[in-house]
Formats: sequence, C-alpha cells, structure tokens
Amino acid sequence: MSDCVLVTGGAGYIGSHACKALKQAGFEPVTFDNISTGWEDAVKFGPFEKGDLMDREHLDKVFAKYKPIAVMHFAALSQVGESMQVPGKYWRENVGGALNLIEAANDAGCKNFVFSSTCATYGDQDNVVLDENSAQLPINAYGASKRAIEDMLRDFQASHGLRHVIFRYFNVAGADPDAEVGEFHQPETHLIPLMLDAIEGRRPALTVFGTDYDTPDGTCIRDYVHVCDLVDAHVLGLNWLLGDKESRVFNLGTGSGFSVREVVDYSRSVTNREVPIVEGDRRPGDCTRLVSGSTRAEKELGWTPTRSNLSTMIADAWRWHQTGHYDK
Ligand code: UDP
Repeated sequence: MSDCVLVTGGAGYIGSHACKALKQAGFEPVTFDNISTGWEDAVKFGPFEKGDLMDREHLDKVFAKYKPIAVMHFAALSQVGESMQVPGKYWRENVGGALNLIEAANDAGCKNFVFSSTCATYGDQDNVVLDENSAQLPINAYGASKRAIEDMLRDFQASHGLRHVIFRYFNVAGADPDAEVGEFHQPETHLIPLMLDAIEGRRPALTVFGTDYDTPDGTCIRDYVHVCDLVDAHVLGLNWLLGDKESRVFNLGTGSGFSVREVVDYSRSVTNREVPIVEGDRRPGDCTRLVSGSTRAEKELGWTPTRSNLSTMIADAWRWHQTGHYDK
C-alpha cells in the first residue's frame, strides 16, 4: 500500500493539483478540507475527510486512521484584501487552525510538515532582492498570519523535532494541462481568472487596481508560477524531508516580474480576444513589486519549472476556464 500524505485544503486550487502530483509520485493523498472555499468534486485522487482544522478531535482520528508519513498544509484563507477588512478571521482560522494541525501531527508522531507560505510575508521592500533571508515585514494580515505559522514551525522543530519545508509562493497561476482540476474561487479575487471572466463576458470588465505605482507602467508587478511547477516542488520537498534532510525554506517564483498591464497584453494574444478593463483605485494591502530573487529551490531541490511562462499559464487557465466548471 502507498504511504499516505495528509493534504489539508486538498479540495482547493493548489491542494487539488498537489493531490494529483502526489498520486503520480506514488503516494496516497488524503484530503482534509471543510469545503469553505474548496470543491468536493476536486477531490479525485485519494480519500476525502470532510473536517475543520478547528476540530482537534477529528484531526486526531484522521491521523490515527491513515497514519500519514507527512502533512502538506494548504488550507487557509488567502485573500489579501479580505484580510485587511477582517484580520481577526485570518488570525483565528489560519493561525489557530495551523496550531491544531501542528500539535495533532506532532502528537501522532508525524514529523514531516510541508507548509504553504507566501511572499506576502516579505511585505513591500523597494529595491530589495527577495530571497529566503530577506526580512519578513508583512503589510497585510494574510502575510502576518503566514509568518506566524512559520514561527510556530520553527518552535516545534526546536522543541519536538518536527521537521518542515516551508514554501513561500509568489503568484500561483495556470491549471492542470489535462483540465482535471483548475482554479475556481468563489468569490474570485485573483487577476488571471477575473481577466478570463471579463474576456468571456461573465463580468463587465477587469478593474486594474492602481495605475500610479512606482513601476514602468504604473501597475503592480508580480512573479507568476505555474501551479503544476509549484506542486512538483512540493513533491521534491516531501522527498527532501523523507531523505532526512534538515528543515528548509524555499521561495517558489521564477525571478521574472510582470505588471498587471503586461498580463492583460499576454491574455489578449493567447486568447485572441479583447480584454475589457477599467482603471480603479489601489487595493489596500497590495505590494508594489513581489519578485523572487532566489534560485535555492532549483539548486538544492533540483526544481525545474517547465510551464511557468505567462503564455502557458494563461493558455492552461483558459482551457480549464472553458470546461464549464465556472458555471457552478
Ligand atoms: N489585480 C487587479 N485587479 C483584480 C485583481 C488583481 O488589478 O481584479 C492585481 C492586484 O492588485 C495585484 C495583481 O493583480 O497587483 C495580482 O493580484 P492577485 O489577487 O491575483 O494576487 P496577489 O498578488 O494579491 O496574491
């Protein structure tokens, strides 16, 4: 029988892609998800346990039942804008939920923990190359909640020997090229799916949040990474821990930054359709520029992103977008 990996948030965008990658790598992904932002029909690659991270008793039962060799923790609230409106929700659910999970894993003797963190922990640092040693100065509650969980993992490593790989994601985009799973949030807040919605007429236009940033075209710059490349790194991170290597932090980005306007231009050329846009105000909590300055994941994990160019990411997202999942 394959070794089980407990995947929290396995019904969500990144978690469902991770389950597919784990299955392909010979593991049994067990999804633990409360379906607050995920979708039950995205759980296709292993067992499903519907549950909430705030329910410690349920977590203990799941650890006892499946005896996972590792945890991949994706489940989280992840909207920067919302986190500025209701920070308490982010502290309670992200940090409180992670604490329950980390304690349950530790108590069950499951000592390998892969954590989905974010470049939002770095904050808005002009002219600074963002590598894993950069200062973590988040400017929104989402980033702050993720940084707190990173700190928790370091404490559990020091006191209990719970080993971790922390991945700080830049902007995740694209979809499974087979369109078995893809990105679907409700409400949607992310640039590429919103733009595809606007192209298809599902919404009147894409609002560009801020055109007066200190960037060449005035719009924010982000480093986009394909979800399939991202989850490949997670499988490498899991094998890193199973190979008894030390706890480690890795940025997952490509080092290339694209502005909102550039993403719009690419989408126009990939889809051959017009992108209706309107220019709006800045969104509170948004950083001007977030681009990874690290090649640690390539050098140490042997990670080779193959799909993380804007054309492929938009083409894969567009293919998924046209499967009808957006009609839910
Ligand atoms: N963005 C935008 N309009 C939208 C959604 C996003 O202009 O409707 C911009 C946002 O300000 C940011 C970039 O697109 O600069 C990526 O935002 P997203 O929400 O996709 O990811 P984030 O960077 O917040 O993790």
